[in-house]
Amino acid sequence: MKRITHWIGGVPRDSDRSGDVYNPATGSVSAQVALASADDVDAAVAAAKAAFPAWRDASLVKRAHVLFRFRELLYANRDALAALISAEHGKVHSDALGEVARGLEVVEFACGIPHLLKGGFSENVSTNVDSFSIRQPLGVVAGITPFNFPAMVPMWMFPVAVACGNTFVLKPSERDPSASLLIAELWKQAGLPDGVFNVVQGDKVAVDRLLAHPDVKAVSFVGSTPIARYVYETGTANGKRVQALGGAKNHMLVLPDADLDLVADSAVSAGFGSAGERCMAISVVLAVDPIGDELVEKIASRARRIKIGPGDDPASEMGALVTRVHRDKVASYLDLGEGKIVVDGRENLPDGDGFWLGPTVIDHVPPGSRTHREEIFGPVLSVVRVASYEEGLTLINEGEYGNGTAIFTNDGGAARRFQNEVEVGMVGVNVPIPVPMAFYSFGGWKASLFGDTHVHGVEGVHFYTRGKVVTSRWLDPSHGGVNLGFPTNG
Ligand code: NAD
Repeated sequence: MKRITHWIGGVPRDSDRSGDVYNPATGSVSAQVALASADDVDAAVAAAKAAFPAWRDASLVKRAHVLFRFRELLYANRDALAALISAEHGKVHSDALGEVARGLEVVEFACGIPHLLKGGFSENVSTNVDSFSIRQPLGVVAGITPFNFPAMVPMWMFPVAVACGNTFVLKPSERDPSASLLIAELWKQAGLPDGVFNVVQGDKVAVDRLLAHPDVKAVSFVGSTPIARYVYETGTANGKRVQALGGAKNHMLVLPDADLDLVADSAVSAGFGSAGERCMAISVVLAVDPIGDELVEKIASRARRIKIGPGDDPASEMGALVTRVHRDKVASYLDLGEGKIVVDGRENLPDGDGFWLGPTVIDHVPPGSRTHREEIFGPVLSVVRVASYEEGLTLINEGEYGNGTAIFTNDGGAARRFQNEVEVGMVGVNVPIPVPMAFYSFGGWKASLFGDTHVHGVEGVHFYTRGKVVTSRWLDPSHGGVNLGFPTNG
């Protein structure tokens, strides 16, 4: 049985405790993952702490060189990484390649670190006195990540953190942990000194130790809202800087003037890509009267044609869900009787014990019902009928989450009004999954993000550094002697 270990100080390390990792397409156990004890976490933090002074002092150009080499290795190994992801997550290979590509873009952004860390300089803020601002790394920082993007979400974090001169401890999801180890090996090949990037596999034990450890200066978390809130509250209570991204329930508002074929293509792609296990997936279509019937028919006919199968079969368009427990939880929403099931994902599934659930479309979902409000995180697309733009906007803004949303219309004025009025962090106009590029920052509002800094882009650089302002004067003949007055401009 394959054993998936930690990676600490540039070498593997194992633990006594372990958990099962599944192949979702077969339902069988494919590996055992080590589950860290507090001592294992302490070893990782100690390795990261020991590596920090030299990495902090490595020149910007040297750090950028390592990042460039890492980028090339990641690109060369993208197929192998995608295969590992697909085998443990269940998503199809092309989708796994897509997540590697989006993570790679953050590495490319971080290659520009010499430019990103330029400070400001003001000459003569007072006579013969200059001021300049610099940003310095924090030290040991940690990333705790979810199952749904085992490569991309960690890469929202560590390329920027490491480029800024920090050392990093990654705690990936215990459900699909293998990608993290290939990434660690590629860092080593790229010339990153041992201890700068470490991986601790594990569960709540590892997370709680990271949140309590005095040498961990900042924590980036991505996962479900209850755990995001817990990580934010615990980490900040322990004096750490924390950004904690949570769950989502993303609505697509469709105005009657929209191109309904484009809408249907977009809703199906954004609802069922990665079997709906994306925090930016569209899970609710708000159809403004009178287009509902026509739109539901277009969505349903497309959903019925999606080919479900193992992630490593090139003919598959949608893979299995990550675990049996998760599949059953998603399927339980179909038993609630909220709305009319137009396409039933429990029918026509592949043979075998894989964690299958097909695309499901539920029409006339009552606003405010569990199916409408709760994050289902699977291939279930709800259609809620609304009478107007205002009614749709109110439903979005009354929701608990504020991660992503989209409006589909050909009316520029309506789109502009929506982008202004909607209380959501990432907004698409005729774009269903508006994930910001690496040089912008990613993050939602309300229960989708705790903290005030989004990930990657300049906000990521800000999160992983702290500011310092130096005011300097070099002795010259005009030095005026002792003055106990309050310093003012002169
Ligand atoms: P999860 O919250 O169960 O797990 C996330 C991480 O927290 C994992 O590393 C896990 O080991 C750890 N964890 C789980 N339970 C814990 C506990 N009780 N105490 C401490 N740590 C714990 O999330 P998941 O199921 O892996 O991922 C899916 C969720 O992530 C969805 O809610 C999805 O919306 C969200 N997500 C959000 C974003 C975003 O950008 N906002 C992106 C991707 C995923």
